[in-house]
Amino acid sequence: MDFQTHISIQNLSVSYGAQQALKNVTLDIPDRKITVIIGPSGCGKTTLLKSLNRLLDSVDGVKVEGQIFVDGEDIYDPKIEVTHIRKKMGLLSQKPQVLPMSIFDNVAYGPRLHNSPDKKKLSRIVEEHLRVAGLWDEVKDRLHEPASRLSVGQQQRLCLARGLAVEPEIILGDEPTSALDPQSSQNVERRLIELKSEYTVIVVTHILRQARRIADYLAFLYLGELVEHGPAAEVFAHPKDPRTRAYLTGEIS
Ligand code: ADP
Ligand code: MG
Repeated sequence: MDFQTHISIQNLSVSYGAQQALKNVTLDIPDRKITVIIGPSGCGKTTLLKSLNRLLDSVDGVKVEGQIFVDGEDIYDPKIEVTHIRKKMGLLSQKPQVLPMSIFDNVAYGPRLHNSPDKKKLSRIVEEHLRVAGLWDEVKDRLHEPASRLSVGQQQRLCLARGLAVEPEIILGDEPTSALDPQSSQNVERRLIELKSEYTVIVVTHILRQARRIADYLAFLYLGELVEHGPAAEVFAHPKDPRTRAYLTGEIS
């Protein structure tokens, strides 16, 4: 598999006090592909994702060592502004967190904050991103209703639209379908696959079947260690490390 590196993680170690959550992780994440990070609960998946947009900064007692380059820029360089990094990434969390406002205003929130477009332009931006998130047809007649009235599956896609509206380059998903029913999960998975033509997508999951469905590139974390990574088809077909084999066959979970 040929690919260009978008994010380069080098010797990343993270600890929370005495607890080491990531141990010397080195990983190149391909541009405009879906990279899936798998591994059992507690192995460091969320920590790895949070390190990518500096969400660990606000955690007390956390220590981050190593380097992460996004578009060749070291995001832990003190000269770089956190907002500059975060603007490049849209985050989909485990539970969709809609803002307590209308469907329209949820999507308009970022654009209003960053570049205050006029009314007409804003409507266009909102429609465009609701379409990309696959939600437009379901909500076009109720844009000014509170977002909280949507189903959980719709809320997750609304969060995707809100994240995309700030025009990120990278989409980070932390178990983004875990609160969803199978139909909604499929919708979100389908969206992610479509989005990879324009975005670098990184998804954390502990659902192996999901990883098989969407991953181009696969990284297996176990107890804070990056055990194996490579093109998904290769890792699934010929895992090299006995721990990867054990995880893929369900012997460890
Ligand atoms: P995963 O997402 O794979 O379940 P996490 O990255 O959430 O794993 O956690 C990795 C390890 O770090 C776990 O042992 C967890 O208990 C610990 N951990 C995570 N967040 C914190 C925190 N804020 N303070 C202390 N320990 C934490
Ligand atoms: Mg997690």
